[in-house]
Amino acid sequence: MSSKMAIDSSHAETLEKTSGEQQVQLDFQLKRDIPLGQVKEQESPGILKANSLKKKYDLGEHVVNALMGIDFEVKEGDFVALMGPSGSGKSTLLHLLGGLDKPSEGDVTLAGQPLAALSDKQATLARRHNVGFIFQFFNLLPTLTAKENVSLPLIIDGKNLRKYNQKIDAVLELVGLSDRADHKPDQLSGGEQQRVAIARALVTDPAIVLADEPTGNLDSKTGKAIMDLLRRSCDELGQTIVVVTHDARAAAYADRVVFLSDGNIVHDISYDGVEDMSQRVRTVIETMEVLDT
Ligand code: ADP
Repeated sequence: MSSKMAIDSSHAETLEKTSGEQQVQLDFQLKRDIPLGQVKEQESPGILKANSLKKKYDLGEHVVNALMGIDFEVKEGDFVALMGPSGSGKSTLLHLLGGLDKPSEGDVTLAGQPLAALSDKQATLARRHNVGFIFQFFNLLPTLTAKENVSLPLIIDGKNLRKYNQKIDAVLELVGLSDRADHKPDQLSGGEQQRVAIARALVTDPAIVLADEPTGNLDSKTGKAIMDLLRRSCDELGQTIVVVTHDARAAAYADRVVFLSDGNIVHDISYDGVEDMSQRVRTVIETMEVLDT
């Protein structure tokens, strides 16, 4: 690992906000025998819970009520899509759920910890230990290789990388990028960069992965491959996932689709027993059409 990996925590914090770019296809096998942590058990208490969550942005002249009082629970192993028109509050909700921002009222409980009760430092640690973030623009650090980018959350957490080398290689293999480990982001396609971001999100075995428009910057074929990867992470590793998307085809990969409108949850659809993807997509589109009218 190079000396570039000695990254200070302020630089590291920008990881949760920075940027990157562009495309390709996926061809990999998730392997259950690789050391990615235990397969989590089905049905358990909520891993993420929002109670009466409100968010107001005070703009001086007027106040934007971005979230009006959201009650929302995600159970371990769930794969949930958040949908809704632009401005309906999806990103705001995702940020509050992941502790990136604070609610105006209400509270979020993440992996049993009420975030409101934590100091800023404790909240940062809770986020670091429990949440893997995936962003639309990948947010890879451009001067680091794929492997170094994947290692970042472990470095930030002060882990001894030598002990985690096998784990880092395992997540890179999981996302089909073992042969690109030494490539920097500008040597990777957009789809490959997003796979690096997914490996980075998974490397800490987070309680939950939160993804904000993970396919929004990718062509449809590459986006499909990325959603397929997230689907497999849920099915084969038991990874709990919440994805914000405006794309019905992406939402169809989830088990449950929660619709927001004007800061409220207005529909909550479960796909129990519906295997047919085109049927799932149709259901999402029909619901969106009803919301738009
Ligand atoms: P979505 O992700 O569904 O497009 P957002 O959560 O980004 O919606 O935004 C919800 C509402 O809150 C919108 O009206 C948006 O303009 C407003 N909003 C979001 N972030 C801010 C902010 N930092 N300051 C002021 N208003 C904001």
